[in-house]
Amino acid sequence: MEKLEKIQAAFKEIIDPSTDHSLAEGQRIINIEVKRSDTPPHQEQIFIHYQRDGLDIGMKRELEGIIVERLGRDLDPDTFFLLSHSEHQQPPAGTPSKGEDHSDHQHDDHQAPEMNAPARVDSIKRIIVIASGKGGVGKSSFAVNLAISLNQLGKKSALLDADIYGPSLPMLLGKRDVKPIANKDGKVIPILSHGIKFISFGHFVGEDEPVIWRGPMLGGVLKQFLFDVDWGELDYLLIDMPPGTGDMPLSLSQIVEVDGSIIISTPQDVALLDSRKGLNMFSQVNIPVLGMVENMSSFICDGCDKEHMLFGSGGVQKAATDLSAKYLGGIPFEKELGLSSDRGEPYMSNPAYSERPVWNAYKNIAREIDQLVEVGAAASHN
Ligand code: ADP
Repeated sequence: MEKLEKIQAAFKEIIDPSTDHSLAEGQRIINIEVKRSDTPPHQEQIFIHYQRDGLDIGMKRELEGIIVERLGRDLDPDTFFLLSHSEHQQPPAGTPSKGEDHSDHQHDDHQAPEMNAPARVDSIKRIIVIASGKGGVGKSSFAVNLAISLNQLGKKSALLDADIYGPSLPMLLGKRDVKPIANKDGKVIPILSHGIKFISFGHFVGEDEPVIWRGPMLGGVLKQFLFDVDWGELDYLLIDMPPGTGDMPLSLSQIVEVDGSIIISTPQDVALLDSRKGLNMFSQVNIPVLGMVENMSSFICDGCDKEHMLFGSGGVQKAATDLSAKYLGGIPFEKELGLSSDRGEPYMSNPAYSERPVWNAYKNIAREIDQLVEVGAAASHN
């Protein structure tokens, strides 16, 4: 059976929780499009657009979960598919975007609607993604400590943990057993820890559950995380991405305007890291690469407090130069950073560490990023 037929067959069996009819019978599915990506290897991509009118937040999650689970089973595992939605009765707060049509029109079933243009979340000034070529390089610790450093600069920052393979923000922020709840408007209230609001895939999947969520689930859940969470006014939302070059940047770039990406690497991984692929991936989906950070760039010895360059110096800086990316700085390895992460008390939230090399590195990198973003914003207004 062709992909399209498999999807249509699945929709005959999936029941719309608001009507008890199948998705094939109702008006919920607006469009199914199979396209080839513009960039090599010209992968086949499936875009399913549906409308969410009349579904409450629980129904949305339930329906999207069922669609994703079912299509994940019926289509072959490499198939990229993205579930996008529109909503007329209750537009998600903060979604009005440049050029988006907000009239309360009905879609003509015979006419394929345009895919939603990436939106801006009104209350969030900048969205920055934190990415790495592989896991374990300190991407999540970086996201957490950068958010705190930006907060210390007076820039209100929050975190969205989109790392489906190892959502670690609940642990790093000491909120493993806390579940987010909804407010009276049905919006999810983010968890607050050390002055940082955050939300994580980890809150919605059990730690031992196998990861079956792929492109489409990411699209649906990311959208909810961006638009159905009560973020309040923010200068920065940092998104902790899954490691590697998966579907996430593409899904994300179709949902929301992302202002920049930061790539984290360790000196010993930079040779292995397919940095060029990573950087290309972001530029292909119009997410500017703000720069690269070297984590565990040197070792601060416990006893002597001296800095040792265990893997030589300048590895990531050189890679950044080769790739025409900006080098944003290096963060030394310090045992206390790992220990404080394990305790759920981020390093940068503890003034006892102030003026230590790791502390100063974070301060400098946060300042550098904030300036870069300001310059970028000023340039785009000219
Ligand atoms: P990733 O998100 O890339 O998988 P994590 O942020 O979870 O990586 O970090 C992996 C481990 O390395 C964690 O135990 C973390 O505390 C530790 N770690 C990260 N950066 C440093 C550092 N600069 N010094 C010491 N330990 C670090």
